[in-house]
Amino acid sequence: MTDVLIDHFTYEYPGSTVKVLNDVDVTFKHNHFSLLTGPSGSGKSTLLYFIAGLYPHFIGNDALGGIKFGDTDIKQIPSNEISHSVAMMFQNPNQQFAMDTVIHELTFVLENMLVEPAKMDGIINHALAFCGIKQLRSRVINTLSGGEKQRVALACIVAMDPPVIVLDEPFASIDPDSRLDLIKKLKQLQVEHGKTIILADHDLNDYKGVIDEFYYLDPDTHHISLLDSQSAQHFFDNFK
Ligand code: ADP
Ligand code: MG
Repeated sequence: MTDVLIDHFTYEYPGSTVKVLNDVDVTFKHNHFSLLTGPSGSGKSTLLYFIAGLYPHFIGNDALGGIKFGDTDIKQIPSNEISHSVAMMFQNPNQQFAMDTVIHELTFVLENMLVEPAKMDGIINHALAFCGIKQLRSRVINTLSGGEKQRVALACIVAMDPPVIVLDEPFASIDPDSRLDLIKKLKQLQVEHGKTIILADHDLNDYKGVIDEFYYLDPDTHHISLLDSQSAQHFFDNFK
């Protein structure tokens, strides 16, 4: 039951005069699949990094407004506990991993969450099976394809099991079949496991009929609007 509330959030990068997020005031609803779109440079990644808790020290300083998970202000969550609330998949899978092999990465993720060692095997087996990559368990991550790496990244998120999952253009480096498969798995995580999914993408293929909400980050105003179904349809129709 975790809504993500973005409360009159405004941010400009140090040294910049442009507000990359300007009075953004939206609620990404719990157990919904929200798509955030907008042209390159409009500020999608910046917002997702804030939601994922990567810049907590800026909130209240350079950044005005707030971010909450349900009733909990993100600033109240210690950085070593943020992964119990939210996990992020990055655009570049090579940004994602700290360890050499798939099994070491999954173990590392669970160790960081202080999961009991006796429970790890079961969690890891479930995560690998859910993502259809049991055969990659012992592989060196550097030797995997882009699509395989993103499946491993998703397995890490499934193992972490946070209520909120944010994904930043996660399909930029993968083939169309892997993209479709990952979108289906995300939908399954939403519908069967109640996850709140917030996904940024400028490519609108394959989302029709999958997403619940369509948000647009306007590159001129740096403001986010929730589109009604007619406006969302217009975006889908005009996307080539
Ligand atoms: P998007 O993900 O929609 O492409 P970003 O959030 O990456 O947009 O970037 C929004 C704007 O903020 C861009 O103009 C970008 O150049 C600028 N920007 C991104 N990261 C930084 C940074 N670390 N320092 C200064 N400006 C940045
Ligand atoms: Mg981006």
